[in-house]
Amino acid sequence: MKEPQKFAADRMLMRLARWLRLLGVDVLTDASLTGADLLKVGRRERRVFITRDKRLRTAPDVIFVESNTFRDQLREVIIRLGLDAHAIAFTRCSQCNHLLVPVARELVLRRVPPYVFASHDRFSECEGCGRIYWPETHPVRIRALLDSIGV
Ligand SMILES: [Zn+2]
Repeated sequence: MKEPQKFAADRMLMRLARWLRLLGVDVLTDASLTGADLLKVGRRERRVFITRDKRLRTAPDVIFVESNTFRDQLREVIIRLGLDAHAIAFTRCSQCNHLLVPVARELVLRRVPPYVFASHDRFSECEGCGRIYWPETHPVRIRALLDSIGV
């Protein structure tokens, strides 16, 4: 099986990175690193670098994002990467990029709102930050934005 492509995104593209993770894409970010440093880190892990830095425009393994606004950037990158925007995956934490793992329902009792606990059977937990996800975490809002940009 071919390993899925992995990415790193510079700190001007943090919001874009969170949205790509919602689609299951592995996107490393680190707000403490400059673009050039993150590019180096990313290359060690064979990540394609997504950037707004014009100086890196012609570098190999770099996707230079042309668009200025978040919505246009999201559309541009989804199209360029050939992502399926209808496959909201919930396999990866949108905040920190770690994988989600299934967690027993009784363990999330005090960690999600009561109405969420009452109406869901399956929960996942982020291995990195501990955030709890459930199958319908914000899908309406997410779908509405993806629809509005036509992907
Ligand atoms: Zn997390």
